[in-house]
Amino acid sequence: MKKIAIIGGGASGLMAALFAARSGANVTIYEHNSSVGKKILASGNGRCNIINTTASPEDYAGNDPQFVTYALKQLNFGYFEKFCHSIGLLLDIKEDGRCYPLSNEAKSVLIALKSAISETGVKIITDSNVTAITKNDSHFNVQTDQDKQSYNNVLIATGSQAAPQLGATADGYSFARAFGHEILPTYPSLVQLHLNSRNHHKMAGVKTTAEVTLIIDGKPKEKVQGDILFAAYGISGLAILDVSQKASYAHHNKQRVSIALNLLPRYDRATLTNVIEKVFASVPKHDIHTALCGLLPAKIITYLLEDAAIALTTTVSSLNTKEIKKIAHLIGEWKFEVTDTHGFKHAEVSGGGVSTAQVNNKTMESNLVEGLYFSGEVLDIVGKRGGYNFNFAWASGMIAGKEMGK
Ligand SMILES: Cc1cc2nc3c(=O)[nH]c(=O)nc-3n(C[C@H](O)[C@H](O)[C@H](O)COP(=O)(O)OP(=O)(O)OC[C@H]3O[C@@H](n4cnc5c(N)ncnc54)[C@H](O)[C@@H]3O)c2cc1C
Repeated sequence: MKKIAIIGGGASGLMAALFAARSGANVTIYEHNSSVGKKILASGNGRCNIINTTASPEDYAGNDPQFVTYALKQLNFGYFEKFCHSIGLLLDIKEDGRCYPLSNEAKSVLIALKSAISETGVKIITDSNVTAITKNDSHFNVQTDQDKQSYNNVLIATGSQAAPQLGATADGYSFARAFGHEILPTYPSLVQLHLNSRNHHKMAGVKTTAEVTLIIDGKPKEKVQGDILFAAYGISGLAILDVSQKASYAHHNKQRVSIALNLLPRYDRATLTNVIEKVFASVPKHDIHTALCGLLPAKIITYLLEDAAIALTTTVSSLNTKEIKKIAHLIGEWKFEVTDTHGFKHAEVSGGGVSTAQVNNKTMESNLVEGLYFSGEVLDIVGKRGGYNFNFAWASGMIAGKEMGK
């Protein structure tokens, strides 16, 4: 019977184990945490955005996003939904394609997967840190802190460095490198951004909706509308996470990164100026801060006016057209320099990783070392927010598992 070692008991490792064992292989999962699936439990704010019905290569970044095409076809949404039903997991499908377990609890996903796996005889060794993988002739040796075992096939499913508090390591990259694989530089993604401004920290805790434009080397690259939340370090919120992959990648490559916030995206610039003029006309005796309070969060107005160099106590009737235009301009395009990301500790995922150019996307096997496989986030594939990262983890894990079990 074929002996298979899976390094990492996360989403892709568990999926691979199930499919390999169902094909008749003898499967061992090595997990250095005290339990498997910690990221599954923490995902989607405890709800697990398990997949996206609309996933396509355009939802992924990496040197070659087309690498995911075959995997997404093999594990298309219809297939995945049937698979979930077969392990007792029902899905709640949202209008925009995001899916959650019907229970609304990430725990259900892990329970269903673990019970399906337990029926196949997969051996799960927790608290077991893999320190090295070597190959002698046709056999792989998997070295842990405790012992060394030999296998026919090894799957590196160690994920990325994102969220080390959940057990994430960079070990997969070292294992791959030792076999001659190229590792593309890694960077945090789906992550908050650090800003360089006099005032963002004074607005910490203020949440609003905005259109965020990501600007790289002076050129607008991406526009996203959604929540933003000022913080002591900079800015977070779903709209920020959505632009963070490109922002982080550009920052990593030493490009100039900034964001422009449109705080009232419902109006174009001319309409916004009209709206402000109308508000001012109806309250001419108010100070400008009070007059803008019907449009924007009060704290934001304070610092926006500071950036416009207009005193908060200025009476509305004393403002000239140039000053009104300046206010409208800042509301529509308030720029902040991005100096960094909030780091791997706070990131949901990582960009970069094992180069997909040296991995067969139809089998997940290394092109360099026969019998060595990769799946999930350890590869140079990173998805958008919305279930796309699990989507690729399940898909690549399933393919690797089926192939290794053959
Ligand atoms: C807070 C948070 C929320 C998220 N929410 C979502 C979401 O809702 N939807 C979505 O699609 N994605 C989400 N993600 C991303 C998603 O969790 C990952 O993309 C996915 O888990 C990747 O699966 P993987 O199997 O490649 O890696 P992982 O799930 O990270 O599994 C890797 C496993 O390998 C183990 N390991 C590492 N090194 C070793 C070693 N040397 N020896 C033994 N074991 C080792 C780790 O402990 C881990 O259990 C979220 C991530 C985080 C951090």
